Amino acid sequence: MTVGPSAAREPSFRESVDMMFNRAVRLMDLSPGLEEKIRVCNATYTVRFGVRLRGAIHTFTGYRAVHSEHMEPVKGGIRYALNVHQDEVEALAALMTYKCALVEVPYGGSKGGLCIDPRAWDEHELEQITRRFAYELIKRDLINPAQNVPAPDMGTGEREMAWIADQYSRMHTTDINAKACVTGKPLHAGGIQGRVEATGRGVQYALREFFRHPDDVTKAGLSGSLEGKKIIVQGLGNVGYHAAKFLSEEDGAQIIGIIERDGALLSDKGLNVEDVKQWIAKNGGITGYPDARHHAEGAESLETDCDILIPAAMEGVINLSNAARIKAPLILEAANGPITAGADDILREKGTVIIPDMYANAGGVTVSYFEWVKNLSHIRFGRMERRAEEARHLLLVNEIERIASGRGANISLSDGFKSEYLRGAGELELVRSGLDDTMRTAYQSMRQVWHSRPEVEDLRTAAYLVSIGRVAASYRAKGL
Ligand code: NAD
Repeated sequence: MTVGPSAAREPSFRESVDMMFNRAVRLMDLSPGLEEKIRVCNATYTVRFGVRLRGAIHTFTGYRAVHSEHMEPVKGGIRYALNVHQDEVEALAALMTYKCALVEVPYGGSKGGLCIDPRAWDEHELEQITRRFAYELIKRDLINPAQNVPAPDMGTGEREMAWIADQYSRMHTTDINAKACVTGKPLHAGGIQGRVEATGRGVQYALREFFRHPDDVTKAGLSGSLEGKKIIVQGLGNVGYHAAKFLSEEDGAQIIGIIERDGALLSDKGLNVEDVKQWIAKNGGITGYPDARHHAEGAESLETDCDILIPAAMEGVINLSNAARIKAPLILEAANGPITAGADDILREKGTVIIPDMYANAGGVTVSYFEWVKNLSHIRFGRMERRAEEARHLLLVNEIERIASGRGANISLSDGFKSEYLRGAGELELVRSGLDDTMRTAYQSMRQVWHSRPEVEDLRTAAYLVSIGRVAASYRAKGL
């Protein structure tokens, strides 16, 4: 994280989340008791376990925080990073509670983390470590299809989720719903199409929805559509890569900057995201990539002129030390907590529009929800309907052509139209449709609050108001 002269005053990640929560609840009519109940993290389990590797026992520290159980199971990713700590997982668990409420997926919030540099271990070693961590959580029901369902986060992916699912199955051999104990699994291990890309796809749908509202676009001092917008992305991992790829390849946006661990690539004519990704895969970083300027101080490039800034790497990167110099009029928080509470104040004063993390990166948990439902229903989405839908469409096409030819009219449906129209929706299309609907609906619920209440200055406060209202309603319904 960038630290500057004022970093001493910077609140921790969890304090930042609490401060943003507090700003919103001041505008609500909640009893102080309920307010406190919603804010606090219910429980955090810390585990230290040993694994024999390379001829010695290595001790690892892991966490699983459960922020709110107003709905169960609780849900949230597992992060692998050396700097994982309790404050961070609790902040992330709280964000999960608010995120799930905002996008109406029926979960409470949770998050986990393991203090480890995954690049320091080979695949077989990582499997041993992951299985042992999973064992510790499973035996305490901190991984369980009905109670607590993890997913990937920074440093983890499909591979780790498959190991966790398998570990759970070994420990619950007769649980018919065992696969639903974790989401983000590979397709062959009970996953769902479109999960890997889901968070980045959600970022794309969020921006598309934002640009459907000219009033909002104007508030950010922008105009028009996504076409030609200059975007800088920080972090070309799962979220950043997919978001940048879809926005440039499908919406005509220009990725003029990519910031990674080893610096930033800048190009006024736009970067080819796929090429950069391949380069990183081959060379371990962006350094040496041709066709772009390389700036060694990556974090400084957050301050470069652009239309949209997408921090998609980690928390706290926009903080008191650099917020005043951020030029982008629109920031979409693809990472969790990239803007600290202090920086948020500075940016709001400047009129920067921020599409907040709890909404902007909710695509992952939304598609995880679809995966969980698929696992519990034991059937792929679209399997029953697809061919029936195609048959009905064919009936209609044939009838139109029959009527047209009977009247001697010179009407024929184009082959392109027919092949598109006649194709029934498969799993991927249904997942994308469900995700698109979720992102549009959630944006509209935030926006409605933003525009209808003058005291609500920003989308983040609006997002908190919507989600806290829903969590409160859920607690009240339980009689609390
Ligand atoms: P990832 O590990 O796949 O990618 C992170 C990327 O950021 C990597 O390419 C890494 O090299 C880069 N990076 C790390 N430190 C950096 C730094 N200081 N400067 C620039 N780049 C840096 O992780 P991810 O899954 O893409 O997650 C990124 C963020 O999105 C996290 O905040 C995570 O909590 C959030 N998120 C992820 C998901 C998901 O489905 N994976 C869902 C919601 C939110």
